[in-house]
Amino acid sequence: MSAYGDYEPVIGLEVHAQLLTHTKAFCACATSFGDPPNTHTCPVCLGLPGALPVLNAEAVRMAVHASLAFGCAIQAKSVFARKNYFYPDLPKGYQISQFDLPIALDGALEVEVEGGGKRRVGIRRVHMEEDAGKNLHGIGTSSVVDLNRAGTPLVEIVSEPDLRSGNESAEYLRRLREILMFVGVNDGNLEQGSFRCDANVSIRKVGETRLGTRVELKNINSFRFVAEAIDVEIRRQINLVERGDRVRQQTRGYNAEKRESYLLRDKESESDYRYFPEPDLPPLVVDEAYVQSAKSSLPELPADKRRRWVEELSLSPYAAGVLSAHPAIARFFDEARALYADAVKLANFVQSEVLRDVRTTGLEAQIPVSPAQVAEILRLVDEGTISGKQAKELYAAVAGTGRSPAEVARERGMAVMSDASAIESIARAVIEANPKQVASYRAGKTALLGFFVGQIMKQTKGSANPATVNEVLARLLGEGGAAS
Ligand code: ADP
Ligand code: MG
Ligand code: ZN
Repeated sequence: MSAYGDYEPVIGLEVHAQLLTHTKAFCACATSFGDPPNTHTCPVCLGLPGALPVLNAEAVRMAVHASLAFGCAIQAKSVFARKNYFYPDLPKGYQISQFDLPIALDGALEVEVEGGGKRRVGIRRVHMEEDAGKNLHGIGTSSVVDLNRAGTPLVEIVSEPDLRSGNESAEYLRRLREILMFVGVNDGNLEQGSFRCDANVSIRKVGETRLGTRVELKNINSFRFVAEAIDVEIRRQINLVERGDRVRQQTRGYNAEKRESYLLRDKESESDYRYFPEPDLPPLVVDEAYVQSAKSSLPELPADKRRRWVEELSLSPYAAGVLSAHPAIARFFDEARALYADAVKLANFVQSEVLRDVRTTGLEAQIPVSPAQVAEILRLVDEGTISGKQAKELYAAVAGTGRSPAEVARERGMAVMSDASAIESIARAVIEANPKQVASYRAGKTALLGFFVGQIMKQTKGSANPATVNEVLARLLGEGGAAS
């Protein structure tokens, strides 16, 4: 029954998302990416003795917003804890995280599954923590440590083991990333590591309800490989069990070139981390008024936006998906919509012309025209000032210039040709030059009308008013038919 024979894969994901605060979680150092190593450090994030952490309120605000977007219950009281381990990129020798009392519990996210249905994927918890620094190996003959990232605020979003395939897991990640980006708390950048994912994978016999032993796949940092890495691991586990062996609880990496997962280490257990409450930070108390105000300031979420665009604006689900693929593009569309009423025409134009030229980096998008310019171009078409074809030309002419489309159209002498007598003389010439088509048309092959329209458009370089062309052609072709 399953694509995996007698086995059912079970996957739960842990996502680490950097919060887009300007400063770190517990000190005032900047969080900027790509600066010279160790230029954003201080006694707190270097873990110097005696330095005390102070919680960044903006990080809390962002964690609360993200949690609410996943429908989680914000906890009135949460507690920071020390997760102790040794690694060169962790100067304090522990990471400040949250453990048994995280900031939010019990949310969910809906994902589309293969075959068209939807699956509700539970979100077990969201907790706040700080990022580690970065070890860089093979710099000359050394390994070096850059602590600029150390102390950057993160949320870890832990799903229930509700996913059932590699593709489903990738879809969940896409939806999750999109929500974080729409809420404005994360830039969704997998390459720079500001959005990272660990996948817990196990298998069990179809019908079995107990969970199997899981393997944790670490840091699969590309959407391209998420589904593949998980599927490869599922197959490895099935092969093991089929051979009469068993799955061992391990932490594994993924080699995309060899299409293999490989052993990193036997999975550490919770007790290895010797968690205990962070003595230097009081419990985090979030009151109901704060939660309510955060709720009311949440932006429209992408899934709701798509539903609204389809239901209220009659966009196709495909168009709604394309236009909501990035928050800046969605904002552009909403703004243009406020200036131009025909949503479907607008959606078509944005998709066919504007999107081609859009470049996104993180939450930013470079869009070469403004919503007002696009609205103006489409109005010029509606008014019959320019043709649809000229609209494309006009778009290309104003893109990147900030100029008024009406002005540029005037300057370039763009004008739709609505003069019926001028169109008529061209139509007569076309009819004369194509006697065979004329005869077929008059014999009943009326679909040939498109051929004549096309010929006239060609001769007028697309500037003829289509309504006038149709009118004139119908008259001339009809006339002749009646006469013969
Ligand atoms: P850890 O202590 O390693 O963080 P958790 O119990 O918090 O472990 O679970 C972490 C993630 O692993 C969650 O996303 C959860 O859904 C997933 N998970 C737990 N057990 C399994 C399993 N047997 N198979 C697949 N995923 C699992
Ligand atoms: Mg975990
Ligand atoms: Zn610092």
